[in-house]
Amino acid sequence: MPEKPLLAANWKMNPVSGEAASALVQGIIEAAVSQVSVRVALFPPFVWLPAVAQLVSGTALEVGGQDCHWQASGAFTGEISAAMLATIGKWVITGHSERRAMGETDPDVARKAHAALRAGLRTIICVGENQEQQDAGEGERFVAGQVVAALAECTADDSKRLVLAYEPIWAIGSGKSAEPEHAYRMMRLIRRAAGEVIGARAGQNLRVVYGGSVNAENIESYVGLPRCDGCLVGGASLKAEDFSDMIRRTAAVYSGGAA
Ligand code: PEP
Repeated sequence: MPEKPLLAANWKMNPVSGEAASALVQGIIEAAVSQVSVRVALFPPFVWLPAVAQLVSGTALEVGGQDCHWQASGAFTGEISAAMLATIGKWVITGHSERRAMGETDPDVARKAHAALRAGLRTIICVGENQEQQDAGEGERFVAGQVVAALAECTADDSKRLVLAYEPIWAIGSGKSAEPEHAYRMMRLIRRAAGEVIGARAGQNLRVVYGGSVNAENIESYVGLPRCDGCLVGGASLKAEDFSDMIRRTAAVYSGGAA
């Protein structure tokens, strides 16, 4: 059976209270459970994760962490291992540009992705160029390099649980989303680069999503692209009404109808 499109909600360091986190889940649960053709995964901050997991248990909604460590346990203050995360969620995001900006390297991302996959987590690896690289015409080379580095410890077998997220840094939280044609070209490039590491066939079959200022107004132009497997959504996933609308619009695109 073909995989459903994915809408991944990266809450980042929001909301600031457990009550608000619960309200956000309650606000999207109806749309999420009624649109069975869309896979919805929520990525709350770690402290809200148990409560959010509890609220969605028994529904098709899934949860995950925004990061994990590659070691199983030990003296790593403040970290959470992939295996720990797998006791509560199905997913993890690795290599988000906001973490890379705080010092996370390509080898770190490769180790995290490998550990997450070994722990049985569905793993989103984020890649994307910054504004300077884009302006200098370096974006494609840079992103292809990130993909090759991130998959260094992966095999073709891992590809079923992997999702690559093309997230140009200049589009994240800026309101300046990528032109759909640009996103399409980069997603194609990502599959090709992945193929160099995990084999051409696994690379072609890899799930790739777009992220960067996606909202209810523009989501159809991404999920409607050929071979776009969904979206990673930051800011707009914190507004229950907007995110519910995005779930319905994605379902409509995939079923060929109107939202
Ligand atoms: C993100 O941070 O992954 C993201 C896509 O954010 P936003 O949707 O707010 O641009």
